[in-house]
Amino acid sequence: MREERSQVSSGSVSGQLLSSPRIQESKEIGDPMPGKWKLTITQDFSASHQLRNYGGKCENMHGHNFGVEVVVEGDKLDKKVHYLVDFKEIKQCTKDILERLDHKHLNDVECFTEINPSSENIAMFIYKEMKDALPKQVRLSEVSVSEKDSSKATYWEE
Ligand SMILES: [Zn+2]
Repeated sequence: MREERSQVSSGSVSGQLLSSPRIQESKEIGDPMPGKWKLTITQDFSASHQLRNYGGKCENMHGHNFGVEVVVEGDKLDKKVHYLVDFKEIKQCTKDILERLDHKHLNDVECFTEINPSSENIAMFIYKEMKDALPKQVRLSEVSVSEKDSSKATYWEE
């Protein structure tokens, strides 16, 4: 039970020193990791697409109600309201971008005339458009896009 650590190297009185609190131990208790918050909002939009070079049914035109999930993070709460940012602001920001995709044939939308409108690329498109449009107190963490509840593609940048 009495383990001796040789922090104090005065040799002769080491037995007595064991009963006093050790500075090293009290230091380990403090020093908490700084905390952060993440906020998640979801939205959806309806559109049709065709996956070029798929070699199967998805190459034909078909539609989805795409689900979109946006996650933002931050480490400072607003001093008065104690929130990171109003959810409404993130939703509005997402809505403005989805407006460009909603009820469209995605293959005809400028950003997908060259690259496929896969869930992966849609998530990347939203992320890149949104990155600099967010309120300053939050940072964009990731954007996910799903064609069904059982599967989603997530894009983020380190
Ligand atoms: Zn599809």
